[in-house]
Amino acid sequence: MIDTHCHLEFPDFVDDRDAVLERARAAGVTAMICVGGERPRNHLIADLLPAYPQLYGAYGVHPHWANAATAEDEQWIVAHLRDARVVALGEIGLDYHYDFSPREIQRRIFARYLALAREHGTPVIIHSRAAFADTFDLLKDAAPWRGVVHCFSYSLAEAEAFLGLGLHLSFCGQITFPKCDALRDVARAVPLDRLLLETDAPFLAPVPQRGKRNEPAWVALIADQHATLRGIARAALDQATTSNACALFGLPVQA
Ligand SMILES: [Zn+2]
Ligand SMILES: [Zn+2]
Repeated sequence: MIDTHCHLEFPDFVDDRDAVLERARAAGVTAMICVGGERPRNHLIADLLPAYPQLYGAYGVHPHWANAATAEDEQWIVAHLRDARVVALGEIGLDYHYDFSPREIQRRIFARYLALAREHGTPVIIHSRAAFADTFDLLKDAAPWRGVVHCFSYSLAEAEAFLGLGLHLSFCGQITFPKCDALRDVARAVPLDRLLLETDAPFLAPVPQRGKRNEPAWVALIADQHATLRGIARAALDQATTSNACALFGLPVQA
């Protein structure tokens, strides 16, 4: 399995990162993508990558922090896209649920980083919450895209719209929460060759770990849920999602 979206650079993991990575290895997680989103976290990921060969990185400006983005951030991110284990631009996107940054600035930064992704041929990791129309609007004219809408939270019609742009989808722990039947229906409908696994650790731990600090080992619980929803074997689900992640992000092919 590959956890395509986690935040091991967060302070939550400062005291026991090695133990977290050992549990991930024992659970069958062969690679993890640490996804940045603001200057200090992008830089922390750059510091982590040399120490852990199973980690890959993505650098970006999360919509929450669009307000603080500078030209220097963009220069740093573009320069570091050339690093060997940096595989995507992200998180980038729009979040109108929290509105931590003004929407106009969120849109400007998202559009700018989408343009950079096209210019450099880099896959994108998109965060989109309560902002489907504007997210789709900024993507549609330059489709097809290589990338993923992570922590997917919309309905089937929106899933189909993003799939139509060439994007992959991934789902967080909500697909194990009792009240999330509608989201499970969406997850089940995603073609298997467009599905990725993610935890978004330390956030959104799946049942039965809900409420605790999430960690990459628990991507197995997400994989269990997807396999159950589809009525296929875990091995088949793992193999398909791993090969999807390897192809999308250019990771070494893993057994
Ligand atoms: Zn996100
Ligand atoms: Zn995230």
